[in-house]
Amino acid sequence: MTKKYADIIVDISHEKLDRTFQYLVPEEMQEILTEGMVVTIPFGRGDRQIKGYVTGFDDKPSFDVSKMKRIIRANSNEETVESKLVALAAWMRQNYGSTMIQALKTVLPVKDKVKGKEARKVCLRISKADGARLLDEYLNKHYVAKARLLAGLLDQAELPYQVVTAKLQVTANVIRSLEKDGILEITTESVYRDALEEVTDTKCDILTKEQTQVVNGILEEWEADDRPCLIHGITGSGKTQVYMELIQETVDQGRQVIVLIPEIALTHQIVMRFLHRFGKGVSFLNSRMSTAQRYDQFKAAKAGDVQIMVGPRSALFTPFPDLGLIIMDEEHETSYHSETVPRYHAREVAVRRGEMEQAHVVMGSATPSVTAYYHAMEGDYRLFRLRERYGSSQLPKTTIIDMREELKAGNRSIFSRSLQEAIALRLEKKEQVMLFLNRRGYAGFVSCRSCGYVAKCPHCDVSLSSHRNGKLICHYCGYETPDLKECPECQSTYIGGFGAGTQQIESLVLQMFPGVRVLRMDLDTTRGKDGHAKILTAFENGEADILIGTQMIVKGHDFPHVTLVGVLAADLSLHAADYCAGERTFQLVCQAVGRAGRGEQAGEAFIQTYDPEHPALVAAADQDYEAFYDEEIAYRTLMGYPPVDAMMAILGSGMLEEHLEQAMEYLKKYLQQIYRKPDLQIIGPAPESIGKINDRYRKVIYCKHPKYDILTMIKDQLERYIQINSGYDSIQIQFDMT
Ligand code: ADP
Ligand code: ZN
Ligand code: ZN
Repeated sequence: MTKKYADIIVDISHEKLDRTFQYLVPEEMQEILTEGMVVTIPFGRGDRQIKGYVTGFDDKPSFDVSKMKRIIRANSNEETVESKLVALAAWMRQNYGSTMIQALKTVLPVKDKVKGKEARKVCLRISKADGARLLDEYLNKHYVAKARLLAGLLDQAELPYQVVTAKLQVTANVIRSLEKDGILEITTESVYRDALEEVTDTKCDILTKEQTQVVNGILEEWEADDRPCLIHGITGSGKTQVYMELIQETVDQGRQVIVLIPEIALTHQIVMRFLHRFGKGVSFLNSRMSTAQRYDQFKAAKAGDVQIMVGPRSALFTPFPDLGLIIMDEEHETSYHSETVPRYHAREVAVRRGEMEQAHVVMGSATPSVTAYYHAMEGDYRLFRLRERYGSSQLPKTTIIDMREELKAGNRSIFSRSLQEAIALRLEKKEQVMLFLNRRGYAGFVSCRSCGYVAKCPHCDVSLSSHRNGKLICHYCGYETPDLKECPECQSTYIGGFGAGTQQIESLVLQMFPGVRVLRMDLDTTRGKDGHAKILTAFENGEADILIGTQMIVKGHDFPHVTLVGVLAADLSLHAADYCAGERTFQLVCQAVGRAGRGEQAGEAFIQTYDPEHPALVAAADQDYEAFYDEEIAYRTLMGYPPVDAMMAILGSGMLEEHLEQAMEYLKKYLQQIYRKPDLQIIGPAPESIGKINDRYRKVIYCKHPKYDILTMIKDQLERYIQINSGYDSIQIQFDMT
């Protein structure tokens, strides 16, 4: 495309992001102008000269060319934080598919119009004793409003501003007057800032020999090729220690650091660790923050008030002026993949931002994603290993239990006999137990409890899902077959879905061990604010003997008194209807097992399954990542799944099923027209694993090709086709690239 016309945004700090203006690009600028570049343009009445950012190019004008103004100057040496972020947004738009506005809104810190309203808090700043005395005084003087507010704050030291004005009926004037007297404070800051007061001095640990080797290796890599570094280190080996050392190194050079962690891992423990080491220089983001709070955080980062930003994937867009390092902990976590458009992956965007700003990228995991490890094997990333746990704690002794044998022996319970005995023993010794129900990706697969047979698609080698209409369906290609009444392998009639939930397991445990104290952690029990943290803290404090939960319980906290972990139905995630099922299972089981024996006492783990020889489970039991990877990459290569081949999911949704079906069929035909070579595989359209959400039907087409670039090229053409075709007006199409 020739860069004849440029789209320009003039003010990026406001909600006005949606407004781009088109300008003529003078011929001599067509070569040098790039997305994100700062330009000087005539603007508004009187053609005032102002600065703007180029967000994209067109070869056709969007209005009368004779009325179009020309760009005055390209300020190519005037790179700002924003221009870098606009350029990153342009790359994301191109790579993942979205509009430029969607990409800009993801990347730029947008100020909220209703700034602060819901984010502001009123906090008590005097002691409770002083407060109580003052309250008496107010009551005596009949200062009713002041008394109401103070009483509220004595009850709860922090109240949302809105609660104070709406519920307590206290006016802004009264709040201000108490603020002036130093009785309260109005804050918009994150709760974690308060934790600063607990920190008196910053300290650092002495690294072990192995940790030092990794730090030195990474520093050398920074000097040499500066590839992204992947630390494969078992849990408890000190990856966080290594990160801290690298962060220190970067901050000492006057550059800033972004630390990405999965949302769920932002616990009090990790916050305190960072504060202890870096004090005021570190700030935290979480996804529950309002836009205004996030904006404030970003403003502080830009102004140089903080050097380190810790947070979930959106922290990646912190506008640091001289970003030196991006760290990505628990690199394999699925929460790094955005489910909204643009559907970006934080790992790829981190690597890209690193390249654009000469920042280093370091990621770490005990169970790296197959994709990251593949990059390391191919030499795109540099691999480092931490093989030893810090201190005396050992990996737990792990046993795989064949549930088919249990059935043969007449035990139809969800619990194997060995696990029951082990629980009894731990309870007797007053040690703690975690029971993990693996429900991740559970999509109603059908299996035989006698022989372990699982119904799979003959074309895609993923599990079929049973549907209410009495059919088994493949969510990749749409293959259908009637539901099974008996096992085709062994003719047993013990065939069907797995029904148990955490609640059922809880009541079974209570039946088996009357009087035992149980905590349950699942979507139901963690709904409220801080629901997670409350349960985890209670368990940590020894308020329960057994913690039962879904995948939520396998991350984050360290529980030194847990000596037994039971993985119930390890198969559930194994048979999720997608090609990553083995990878997810390995990761989850590995992490679950790794929860046992983190303290002084040795740990033990049991993995219950109908498929005891499955390589992912065997490898997880041995905590043998390499064995898992070799097996898994062979399967991906054979089937042409990512990371070996690239894959693009075209996700369509619409209210009318017929209309959607037709639109997807047309899209497929168009696809076949634009790329005619046989190396492109087109699969589907098929219903998505959840075929209908909010009355919108959902269908998907998968495309596979050895080259990622070919798929992005195809995506570009499809995006244009969809844009100009009115048939797609009522249908939403999204792209997901892997
Ligand atoms: P990972 O991030 O790999 O799971 P951590 O960095 O959290 O490992 O280390 C696990 C535990 O061991 C933490 O409690 C940490 O404080 C401790 N630890 C690790 N390395 C050291 C060290 N060199 N000195 C002191 N404590 C350490
Ligand atoms: Zn069978
Ligand atoms: Zn199929």
